[in-house]
Amino acid sequence: MRRAIERKRDGETLDPPTWHALIESYMSGDIDDAQMAALAMACVWRGLDEEEAAALTGAMVASGAVIQYPPGMLVVDKHSSGGVSDLVSLVVVPLVAACGVHVAKLSGRALGHTGGTIDKLEALDGFDAALPMHRFVDQVQRVGCAIAAQTESLVPADKRLYHLRDRTGTVPSIGLIASSIVSKKIAGGASAFVFDVKCGSAAFMHNPQRATALAEMLVGISRRFGKRAHAIVSDMNQPLGRAIGTGLEVIEARDLLRGVATDERAREACLVVASAMLEVGGVAQARDRAVQALESGAAYEKFAELIEAQGSSPRALEALAPSAHRVEIAASHAGFVAAIDAVALGNAARHRSERDRAAGIEVQVRTGDAIAAGAPLATLFGEGDDASAVAAAFTIAPGAPASHPLVYTVI
Ligand code: URA
Repeated sequence: MRRAIERKRDGETLDPPTWHALIESYMSGDIDDAQMAALAMACVWRGLDEEEAAALTGAMVASGAVIQYPPGMLVVDKHSSGGVSDLVSLVVVPLVAACGVHVAKLSGRALGHTGGTIDKLEALDGFDAALPMHRFVDQVQRVGCAIAAQTESLVPADKRLYHLRDRTGTVPSIGLIASSIVSKKIAGGASAFVFDVKCGSAAFMHNPQRATALAEMLVGISRRFGKRAHAIVSDMNQPLGRAIGTGLEVIEARDLLRGVATDERAREACLVVASAMLEVGGVAQARDRAVQALESGAAYEKFAELIEAQGSSPRALEALAPSAHRVEIAASHAGFVAAIDAVALGNAARHRSERDRAAGIEVQVRTGDAIAAGAPLATLFGEGDDASAVAAAFTIAPGAPASHPLVYTVI
């Protein structure tokens, strides 16, 4: 195996049997963490082509269980590469299921400044994200959708390798990221995927070129495994919605699903992702169907059904409310909102809402907005001593900044 590491170091392409042997050896202990970290660093510097990334994906899938659905049943899963106020999964899973497409969503927890769908749903009293595989599959068939935490038995090689990459500065490789993400999706058993690749200052990928390269790799690997796939490259230079924090994001998603007090940007992001999911699910006039499901209340009803099936209740959903303890952050001077530091806001909101699910931050402005001195920038909910740090996350300048599109590209 040492020779394979040296070959990758020297920029050679490794063939599929070598990738399988490397992962098998890592899982059996024949390759230790030092050797695997050296290989991962070689991948960061030399890159992986799509064939190598697909081989690594297959090798990692083979390290654990794979969820099985009945033959012929089309099941869609979606993945976001992580963002701030990214409430898309909470909305699109029931929305797409309400249009008749089965959705099986395996989700993660908060990572760094980004929120995790599972942590958000656990703001609902009684919600159980730890579904055993058979219950997950049963719920997808019965209710049409389920959202569960990744179980230990799926892709154990990725779990080990990701932890090692996290410790050794070897996360930022497009090939390693793509194989890590797609391996978990394939093990999740769905037949079609939509990847929402975030791009910007608060995302893994800071520029559209790298984000598009990742999106292409995700779709390319998925298709090699016979899966239907689309990817969307979307903006993460500012929080996606208005709410940041576990319970607050569930409240915003609930209101969006009910068609009240919605933020246009968040709603549009949800419709773009839902339309792509419906397309890979074989539904014609996807966007019209998604809008209809939102406006008719069908998507909200499906969300209520989903949380009920997982131990919570519509009453718990309706009872969620922001903390009564609130502090307003106002603009110190007039101008344009030139930038919003979503990393700082994400960190502050995560810290707050880890202690109190009703705590977090609600952003009142968007980049590019003209504001008067004293106008509200954000509301802080719950306890915390970070008001000045949150205020500093907003840059106000005399001129309007260059704007970023919500969606850069769809693949
Ligand atoms: N998310 C993943 O699941 N894997 C990576 O490598 C990076 C982000």
